[in-house]
Amino acid sequence: MTKRILVTGGAGFVGSRLCKRLLDEGNRVVCMDNFSTGSVGNIEAFLGDPAFTILKHDVTEAVTVGVDQIYNLACPASPVHYQADPVGTLKASVIGALNVLELARRTNIPVLQASTSEVYGDPHVHPQSEDYPGNVNPIGPRACYDEGKRSAETLFFDYHRQCKLPIKVVRIFNTYGPHMHPADGRVVANFIVQALSGRDITIYGDGTQTRSFCYVDDLISGLMAMMNSGPEVTGPINLGNPEELTIRELANMALELTNSNSRIVHRPLPVDDPRQRLPDIGKATRLLDWNPTTALREGLMRTIAYFESVAAKPVLATV
Ligand code: NAD
Ligand code: UDP
Repeated sequence: MTKRILVTGGAGFVGSRLCKRLLDEGNRVVCMDNFSTGSVGNIEAFLGDPAFTILKHDVTEAVTVGVDQIYNLACPASPVHYQADPVGTLKASVIGALNVLELARRTNIPVLQASTSEVYGDPHVHPQSEDYPGNVNPIGPRACYDEGKRSAETLFFDYHRQCKLPIKVVRIFNTYGPHMHPADGRVVANFIVQALSGRDITIYGDGTQTRSFCYVDDLISGLMAMMNSGPEVTGPINLGNPEELTIRELANMALELTNSNSRIVHRPLPVDDPRQRLPDIGKATRLLDWNPTTALREGLMRTIAYFESVAAKPVLATV
């Protein structure tokens, strides 16, 4: 049975890929966005589709729309962008969560929160499983995002306990793929854009910090599996790729796959930049039967092809 589904942040990188998949599966989609980091370009392919509606709206303002499910993705996600307006970021997370929860509560519909691996901060436990409470600096420059997302999780679980609302909380680890903005500022977009344009590859710190990278299509499958799971599955559930590599290894891979002559240069490591990050995805595998299937090289090749196709030389956002 098809549904009418609200995607907040639907014009962003992940949101637009989610809108596409939901439309492809025959649903009607309401894409709500304030277009701060998202773009019309990401959704222009569906603009003529009668099943697709755009609502230009800020999630910090109350919203009234009749839908069957809500995916709450509205929040800047790149450190460069979320630190540019920290108060706005915290408001998008906390007031935004309150607004979507109130909307969901009125008709008791399921609401999914796009939380983040940043709730683990700079972790002392490796890999990170959902029962690790995290190591977050509440007053540092990343706190507007980390603590905002942590507070949003608190609100989701309080609405679940107090109002019996069907909630779904996923903690998304670093995700990449086509439709990232060339000036996004996150590492995969930066390295590919730099390598393709022959500019220096900017490694922050010595490049020994680790991450793992999930291809966006795999993430979307996880988000939808979570939304459509039984009401007992509230999360939090980690979604990410369990293959860890250093940022230096990623830089070398970007150089190799683009056949680029760019030089590697080092820039200062941002304050509170997590030293290591890796999801334990046992819970997602067990409860959602979910595993990412796209190998990093394959996903990077597709992402490189996308950035080649958008070609123009954008101004990079760097810290
Ligand atoms: P993005 O910046 O491309 O997308 C965010 C979207 O939200 C944009 O379209 C932006 O315009 C919109 N937005 C921001 N503030 C808003 C507001 N106040 N009201 C309405 N719309 C607003 O980022 P993304 O990578 O697509 O991330 C989407 C969600 O997933 C975010 O909530 C992010 O925290 C979460 N997430 C993403 C990753 C990742 O690696 N991509 C990792 C962890 C969590
Ligand atoms: N990074 C880097 N060069 C860049 C952008 C990021 O070395 O041009 C590093 C950053 O310091 C971090 C990692 O890459 O250690 C991932 O950064 P990103 O901003 O993509 O996401 P984060 O995981 O920090 O939220």
